[in-house]
Amino acid sequence: MKEYPEIRDFGTHIFLVDAGPVLLAPMSKKAQEEAATVLKKLGVHIILNTAVKDYSQGKVHLADGSVLPTNALIWASGVIAREVPGLPKEVIGRGRRILVDEFNRVQGTANIFALGDLCYQTTDPNFPNGHPQVAQVAIQGGQHLAKNLKLLEDNHPMKPFRYKDKGSMAIISKYKAVADLPKLSFKGFFAWMIWLFIHIIPLVGFRNKIKLAFSWFWSFVTNDPTLRLIIRPGKKRKGTLAEQGNLSNVGGKSLV
Ligand SMILES: Cc1cc2nc3c(=O)[nH]c(=O)nc-3n(C[C@H](O)[C@H](O)[C@H](O)COP(=O)(O)OP(=O)(O)OC[C@H]3O[C@@H](n4cnc5c(N)ncnc54)[C@H](O)[C@@H]3O)c2cc1C
Repeated sequence: MKEYPEIRDFGTHIFLVDAGPVLLAPMSKKAQEEAATVLKKLGVHIILNTAVKDYSQGKVHLADGSVLPTNALIWASGVIAREVPGLPKEVIGRGRRILVDEFNRVQGTANIFALGDLCYQTTDPNFPNGHPQVAQVAIQGGQHLAKNLKLLEDNHPMKPFRYKDKGSMAIISKYKAVADLPKLSFKGFFAWMIWLFIHIIPLVGFRNKIKLAFSWFWSFVTNDPTLRLIIRPGKKRKGTLAEQGNLSNVGGKSLV
């Protein structure tokens, strides 16, 4: 709105369409309700239990037959793993994830391992439908596999991977977030503060932490994000970009 004040009066609507029955499905009911309440207050139209079928010629077609005219569609319906050539089809599961056993070993192989988002493991009793594709699963999986490889090297039996869920958080808007910790749930400003704190802690180096904290503080106080990409019309030049020896001039626009 600050950068494009002219869109304020366009009667713009934001629609959030989800095929599932709730927002933030993996989180607690409290977090789901808070997300819906905050977004509605911000004027977002929420459409649940409805899949997006198609987008063509400026129209989003929904499974119930309705159509939303728009030129701005943001598609955010999940992650598909990158194909790994050479693996048999039988070890590729949902979302192209690689099926692994309890030791993160690719099914049917002796010495190929897969971790994190890329793997699909159903042997963890608390996660029979696979782990969520989040950073903690990848981090813990990596640490666990490192220990297992050491065990393997020492001719000891490997230990099965069990994910320790330390909780989930989601930012919904400025000053509003939800946080599901193992024993407690928070929402609103306090959850938002926890979110900031937890994302600053793992940064390497005190200077980086202070720099990010200050940058965030400045953005929040001034409503002015520090990260900017300014695109200006540039002079048209003849020849290819390689011939010009100037790759910063893209499509007649210079990236400053
Ligand atoms: C927009 C977005 C927001 C997210 N927010 C959160 C969040 O708030 N909290 C959270 O916990 N998780 C979040 N996630 C999920 C989180 O980023 C992933 O779960 C996590 O990064 C998985 O780690 P990984 O090591 O399995 O994969 P990645 O981090 O994706 O690492 C895979 C790496 O492999 C490289 N690669 C791919 N193919 C090849 C190849 N053929 N050869 C060599 N290298 C290759 C890729 O370039 C990449 O660097 C978010 C993800 C996205 C996309």
